[in-house]
Amino acid sequence: MTAFTTEQKLLRESVQKLMATHANRDYVRAKDKARAYPYELYDAWVEAGLLGVIFPEKYGGMGGDAVDLAICVEEIAYVSADFQMCYGGSMFCGVTLLMKGSEAQKEAWLPKVISGERRFSISMSEPEAGSDVGAIRTKAERQGDGYVLNGQKLWNTAAGARDNTMFVYVKSDPTAHYRKGVSLLLVDNDAPGVKLNKLDMLGRHCAGTYEVFFTDAKVDEDRLVGGENKGWDCVLSGLQIERVVSSAGNCGSAQGVVDMAAAWAKERKQFGRPIGSNQAIAHMIADMQTEVAAAKALTYQAAFKVAAGEDALAEITMAKLFSSETFVKVANMGMQIMGGYGYSNEFDMARFYRDCRSCTIAAGSSQIQRNLIAGLMGLKVQ
Ligand SMILES: Cc1cc2nc3c(=O)[nH]c(=O)nc-3n(C[C@H](O)[C@H](O)[C@H](O)COP(=O)(O)OP(=O)(O)OC[C@H]3O[C@@H](n4cnc5c(N)ncnc54)[C@H](O)[C@@H]3O)c2cc1C
Repeated sequence: MTAFTTEQKLLRESVQKLMATHANRDYVRAKDKARAYPYELYDAWVEAGLLGVIFPEKYGGMGGDAVDLAICVEEIAYVSADFQMCYGGSMFCGVTLLMKGSEAQKEAWLPKVISGERRFSISMSEPEAGSDVGAIRTKAERQGDGYVLNGQKLWNTAAGARDNTMFVYVKSDPTAHYRKGVSLLLVDNDAPGVKLNKLDMLGRHCAGTYEVFFTDAKVDEDRLVGGENKGWDCVLSGLQIERVVSSAGNCGSAQGVVDMAAAWAKERKQFGRPIGSNQAIAHMIADMQTEVAAAKALTYQAAFKVAAGEDALAEITMAKLFSSETFVKVANMGMQIMGGYGYSNEFDMARFYRDCRSCTIAAGSSQIQRNLIAGLMGLKVQ
């Protein structure tokens, strides 16, 4: 693995400072309690240029790479896994546009996402198409200079934020088999014919998880990305960056949990001594830190390869699998270490515990990641 540059170390420090200034404990708790989107924090990210970190300078970005992006995501997620989803969605959808959009589309959309004028979210899953993404049914029919959409999407993170444009995967050729005949369309969440409903989920209450209904929603042709019926190429183009984002997010949040548990174990006294002086507790914390360090190593090994323009599908899939399971594991142990306080919604451990659970499900479940890794090893998994 390559080492972080001086600039990358400075970037990490600046994101840490930004989060400490704009997302202190009271802010995070208040937003979580109110289930409210962190617009003020998003504005601070925009102000600091974080929405442009991975985009070329000619569109107003910082011209960074996958490692720079991973650093930003990790430090945001250290504070809140939920807030990280607000940042991450705009980033990996933007990368899909960067890779598959026309020059005119890049010029039209990327400066807007960098300046905070628009946000992006992804709309892929449907009631009957979760792990089996190729089974999507939302259809787009050609009409004049554009398309008419009908159908339903499900579990769409942060789709309801204001000024949000959804990256909607649709079936544009109903006669084409499975993953063929899929297209990617950009649809504003307040366009006529589009209706959203925020779902009552276990966690991630601020970004929110939405179902989206399309009823004769009209979409202009210039919002088609990557060509008609070429949507599957768009899915694949953004996949590795999406997994860099999820893996770095898992690592950041898992580290947040470990630090919280370690601090508690040093402070909390029972039987006249800190609970961390019991070997049972100290060893749990040592195991937690070891696993998080391993998750980070896998994640950055993959991110450095992606940044170098190399194929990192195997590494980033293993990183997504391991980091998500590590986050779930350490949040469970962190709650045990904090006892009743950990279970209380007045403490941040409970929020991480709620927010972690979706990580082994969303963006490809652990089982799907294992299928893929085994497949890359030459095993034919049914
Ligand atoms: C909080 C949250 C946020 C999300 N955000 C988004 C979003 O922004 N945009 C979006 O499009 N989607 C989003 N999703 C959807 C997510 O990608 C799906 O939930 C995920 O792909 C799994 O699909 P499913 O829930 O339908 O489960 P299913 O596909 O029904 O799977 C159920 C179980 O069966 C297992 N399984 C399925 N197929 C296989 C197989 N072949 N081999 C072994 N096991 C298998 C799965 O691993 C899982 O354990 C989000 C989901 C959650 C929970």
